Amino acid sequence: MSGFDVKQVRADFPILHQEVRGRPLVYLDSAATAQKPQAVIDALVRFYQHDNANVHRGVHVLSERATEAYEGARETVRRFINARDVKEIVFVRGTTEAINLVAQTYGRKHIGAGDEVLITQMEHHANIVPWRMLCEQTGAVLKVIPVDDRGELVLDAVDALLTERTRILAVTQVSNALGTVVPVKELTRRAHAKGIPVLVDGAQAVTHFPVDVQDLGCDFYAFSGHKMFGPTGIGVLYGRMDRLEAMPPYQGGGDMILSVTMEKVTYNRVPYRFEAGTPNLEGAVGLAAAIRYLESLGMENVAAHDRELLAYATQALESVPGLRMVGTAREKSGVLSFMLADIHPHDVGTILDREGICIRTGHHCAQPVMQHFKVPATSRASLALYNTREDVDALVRGLHKVLEVFQ
Ligand code: PMP
Repeated sequence: MSGFDVKQVRADFPILHQEVRGRPLVYLDSAATAQKPQAVIDALVRFYQHDNANVHRGVHVLSERATEAYEGARETVRRFINARDVKEIVFVRGTTEAINLVAQTYGRKHIGAGDEVLITQMEHHANIVPWRMLCEQTGAVLKVIPVDDRGELVLDAVDALLTERTRILAVTQVSNALGTVVPVKELTRRAHAKGIPVLVDGAQAVTHFPVDVQDLGCDFYAFSGHKMFGPTGIGVLYGRMDRLEAMPPYQGGGDMILSVTMEKVTYNRVPYRFEAGTPNLEGAVGLAAAIRYLESLGMENVAAHDRELLAYATQALESVPGLRMVGTAREKSGVLSFMLADIHPHDVGTILDREGICIRTGHHCAQPVMQHFKVPATSRASLALYNTREDVDALVRGLHKVLEVFQ
């Protein structure tokens, strides 16, 4: 594969080169949070060693440099997702905050009693709870697109669920619990045909394949830095300019205002209106470094690696006796969720941990989709650009060990 050498990629991630529990570390939990390349770690250190100061308000050289770094990061994000205008990029803490921001600004302004919010059954709690809360605050109704037994959306149900009362469609691009890739471009087309705006949760998508928000056509796109090899505590809300312009502010404080008297506040322009207080400067700098790292590999190459490894892993896991995959969508990305015989996922995870293998077990903050599959929890191995066939082979050996212990 041109431009992508996984051995070289692994060398960029210092954390991977250690032993845990007396074994070489096998990290298969990147859907929860991804590891950081040296380039990101260096960018954070460099920022604190050379450029740290508060942004926007200072006249001194360090403030100028910090502002340049922060605003430069905004431009890097714009380029990465191909937004039209850098002002369409709002820095937030992560996907969770991005969705809460839209629910509490766009939602509070445009969604009232009897209106409908449409989500899907496979959403992460971050794309359920903010809408549930909004519904409780306003008397709106939460509607749900069902999933089938493969873990794909029932697309035939969508048109009837997009009604004249639907005020927003909020949908994930990739399910963190199943790995399903959702056809968000097609859903956006259908929603827009009825004048309904669309929010896409891109938390599990941006790390795996190229994302172009103009091509998707969505109104909002949310993602987290920490899942795409950047720092925690930084994320992005992309909003189409006309949508952002029409939204009231989110939190109040410094930087989001133009002027304040005790009687009246004039709010700042987009995107600063939504960024109250001192922002996560080093987070933005680190996120920009992560994006440059991904760009240096090429997102098409990353996507090809991820596709190839997922196919290998799917086949390898299916060879394990008693293993049942949860989520067998025709298009998947990055995630393998499964049950092993009648062994509780927690026990699977604990025994794998003794072998130095990190996976996640539980409901993956997606309880409604677990309920659909009638399981309280699954074991989930998730793949990233630094994972290899050897990691998958180690997982398979580990699962055989689990079976030996329990049977
Ligand atoms: N949506 C999806 C699909 C996710 O996987 C996650 C994180 N597991 C989130 C939203 C929430 O992201 P964060 O915790 O970074 O805000």
